Amino acid sequence: MSGPVLPGATVGVLGSGQLGRMLALVARRMGYRVHVYAPGSDSPAGQVADREWNADYDDRSSVATFARGVDVVTLEFENVPAATVEEVSSAVPVRPGQKALRTAQNRLREKTFLHAGGYPTAPFREVSERSALEGALREIGAPAVLKTAGFGYDGKGQARLDAAEDADEAWEAVGGEAILESRVDFEREISVVAARGVDGSFAHHGAVENAHDRHILDVTVAPADVPPEVEREAVGITRSIFEALDLVGTACVEFFLAPGGKLLVNEIAPRPHNSGHWTIEGAVTSQFEQQLRAVCGLPLGGTGQARPAAMANLIGDLWSGGEPDWEAVCSLPEVKLHLYGKAEARPVRKMGHLTAVADTAEAAENMVREARERLTASA
Ligand code: AMP
Repeated sequence: MSGPVLPGATVGVLGSGQLGRMLALVARRMGYRVHVYAPGSDSPAGQVADREWNADYDDRSSVATFARGVDVVTLEFENVPAATVEEVSSAVPVRPGQKALRTAQNRLREKTFLHAGGYPTAPFREVSERSALEGALREIGAPAVLKTAGFGYDGKGQARLDAAEDADEAWEAVGGEAILESRVDFEREISVVAARGVDGSFAHHGAVENAHDRHILDVTVAPADVPPEVEREAVGITRSIFEALDLVGTACVEFFLAPGGKLLVNEIAPRPHNSGHWTIEGAVTSQFEQQLRAVCGLPLGGTGQARPAAMANLIGDLWSGGEPDWEAVCSLPEVKLHLYGKAEARPVRKMGHLTAVADTAEAAENMVREARERLTASA
């Protein structure tokens, strides 16, 4: 194995959204150079990188030139085409690695991997044509959720089915290769953000609790209010999944906590996750620094949590009455503002987030929710 990629070297990032931006900010603090590759210019990550490539993922010659100019590559967006990742891998190490990416890119592959590995999930069935939908619904029972197999995130490409009569509408909304999954009557949603190093070392940020709005993450509270054995089990499952995928980098496993304390794995994100943004202020080492350390082959940092924290997303809808009142949140001493530099505030677009730290998780959550309300109070 070659040695670590040390400060001064250049880290390549495929994808140029907010996750790449927060990685690039840490990387530059630690003395690395950062090149980001994605279609589009003036992107959230491109604005803070040393170099922004604006080219398509299937532009093989640009991909090859990008790869020759960097020392290691990571992804901030798991739906980068497999052929692009392969092209880059022929020149330079790509982390988290093909197995993790291939598995997480497609819900059917992901759920099949989880099922085969004995990890608990909601019952599911493959549905690749319309005619299979009613049969699958009979097998797993209503209510259920039809989810597109490829390219689905943040609840996009999902439809709820309460009865066979909903099949046409659900198929219309999702179509193509899909899975039908039992709708889980969960008590809570939790996630574990963790990192795995090149040497197999593992460090986690504990279990956090997530509240969603319209299938999009809304608020994360760290730590989650769950019994220690539930957290231990969630962390154990996360570690085992990372090992089975031979994953190197930061990633997240999302869980449903069903009645009776039963954990079900919902999803694996093979990259830093929105539910780990609080770590920038709330943990000794943020999920982005861990990603950088892991992909560069450095030792992982400590993940101790200094104080309870909460994060609230700032979604484009907040801009509907005009520019939010930034001064109102900046006047709160324990609240931190993050904006991703996106030019246009579309309704469900993630534009930024707020983090609050406090003496208790409840106080942090109240503070961050109130802070967000202040943004539009005068509108
Ligand atoms: P996903 O894109 O699969 O992470 O789904 C986004 C959100 O939709 C989840 O975090 C849940 O709030 C909700 N959801 C997804 N699948 C299910 C399910 N099987 N049962 C209940 N809620 C779900």
